Amino acid sequence: MFLLELNHIEFSYNNSFSMKDISLKIKSTEFISILGPNGSGKSTLLKILSGLLTQSDGIRLFKGKSYSSYNHKELAQLIGYVPQITSSIFPFSIYEVVMMGRTAYLNYFGIEKLNDRKIVNDTLERLNISHLRNKGINEVSGGEAQRAYIARALVQQPKLLLLDEPNAHLDIKHQISIFNILAELNKELGLTIIAVSHDINLVSNYTERIILMKEGKIFLDDKKSKVLLKKNLKSVFNVETEIIKNDENINVFIKTK
Ligand code: ADP
Ligand code: MG
Repeated sequence: MFLLELNHIEFSYNNSFSMKDISLKIKSTEFISILGPNGSGKSTLLKILSGLLTQSDGIRLFKGKSYSSYNHKELAQLIGYVPQITSSIFPFSIYEVVMMGRTAYLNYFGIEKLNDRKIVNDTLERLNISHLRNKGINEVSGGEAQRAYIARALVQQPKLLLLDEPNAHLDIKHQISIFNILAELNKELGLTIIAVSHDINLVSNYTERIILMKEGKIFLDDKKSKVLLKKNLKSVFNVETEIIKNDENINVFIKTK
């Protein structure tokens, strides 16, 4: 049984851009990355997986049920979605931002219990942002804000975590730190993770399976050694590359001339 199964899904935004024939099988505890050029449909695919976009019948989720058999709260308890970072208009504190992730568990009156506070505190601790709990989300660095948004998704205690370019706008050290956190969550909690990224080398060091998107289709979905080949990167990104393999890692050099 798969955690998530998509069979020949089609989706379009008012017929302007369409996702065609998307089929995917995701097993529990996998850590997968999605690569592809701008506009290839990576964010759209993530939104389809998160249940945010209209669902077709071809999606089976958790024990073979379709999305429509879950309500919003139930879905939020299964799937955590970290959208691309956007600046927050309201000066919520880091603690408040993370507590928002508990909404799916609160009662009608929205009153948080001791257990909700414990889960939020533990998660702040795990992501090393406890000391920033009272700081405004707009007053911390990009890397710290990103960790707060990941924490918000984690307190939903989901089975599947979806992240849209979690390393965008971060310096190399912070990019590595985010991926180290994801790898730890994947190993220690057995969390299933799917992350969109533009950094081919970073993802090749962390994820074994890569989904390569092109023009609204899955161009290739395979282990990294099959995906990260010159010809595939040429077809999808239209760039020349040099691929260097050493033991477990594959490094891709993009030729600029
Ligand atoms: P990626 O994340 O790979 O850059 P997206 O999934 O965001 O690509 O977008 C794929 C295409 O769909 C783009 O051409 C984009 O302009 C279009 N698109 C994205 N969101 C919407 C929307 N809400 N309404 C209409 N078109 C959209
Ligand atoms: Mg995107």
